[in-house]
Amino acid sequence: MEHAADPSHPRYRSLLMRHRLEVAAEKGMLADSALIAHGRGEAYDYLLGEKTILSADFATKVALRCLKDATHPILSLNGNVVALAGDEMLRLAHLLDCPVEVNIFYRTPERMTALLSDLNERNDRLGLNVEILGANPDGEIPGLKGPRAKCETRGILQSDVLLVPLEDGDRCQALVAMGKTVIVIDLNPLSRSSQTGTITIVDEVSRCIANMIDSVNLDLPRQSDYIHEEILQAALDSIVGGMKDRFKTAE
Ligand code: ATP
Ligand code: MG
Repeated sequence: MEHAADPSHPRYRSLLMRHRLEVAAEKGMLADSALIAHGRGEAYDYLLGEKTILSADFATKVALRCLKDATHPILSLNGNVVALAGDEMLRLAHLLDCPVEVNIFYRTPERMTALLSDLNERNDRLGLNVEILGANPDGEIPGLKGPRAKCETRGILQSDVLLVPLEDGDRCQALVAMGKTVIVIDLNPLSRSSQTGTITIVDEVSRCIANMIDSVNLDLPRQSDYIHEEILQAALDSIVGGMKDRFKTAE
């Protein structure tokens, strides 16, 4: 069993996610600030009712269509994403027939090795053969300094559509400036990544990727139907106005 908590516990999923991060931290997969970033996400998820809101569902479907229509799609993975949704990311990459690339903000050889070996184990366990990039960063994202600029030429650098869950704002901006379609998954509709991404999905990463996997064969909406400001505003409205719905349910 993955975690001792009882699945009927109201906070089961939240406890399970925390447990996954604890395990990943023990394996050296996470930066020191990873748990703080998760805490910020958890707070927003609580406010969103820990469910996929309608506007996020729509953005998810638009994003999926962009990934399916792309010439060089890629899924970018950092430590928290591998810990929380590593299996789902590999399953999605398999369905899209695209590579994943480990792309971390605080790049050290030890963390890269830990993440790459965790992903290789998942690939084997799931019986998949997804290409896992990141070990040979021979390119740089223009406009960024230091190790955080590093990436692979045949991965992130040549991609036309990227999925970047929990991305840092600076790097998101730099990728958009390269002319790429940048799909952000971030629970905070006010973060710089959410604001500057081409398409933003305000949802929890493991829920969002599971939704994408379920939607892969549906008739999907076009990018021209997506209005960025409206999607972000809808998420904010849900956070602020969500309280009314909760009182209604309680009555
Ligand atoms: P930015 O750099 O974009 O301005 P930030 O500095 O506030 O954002 P970071 O620490 O760079 O935040 O990135 C973490 C982001 O990921 C936060 O916005 C947080 O809400 C979000 N986040 C954390 N956990 C999850 C999760 N499980 N699913 C989706 N989003 C998450
Ligand atoms: Mg940041």
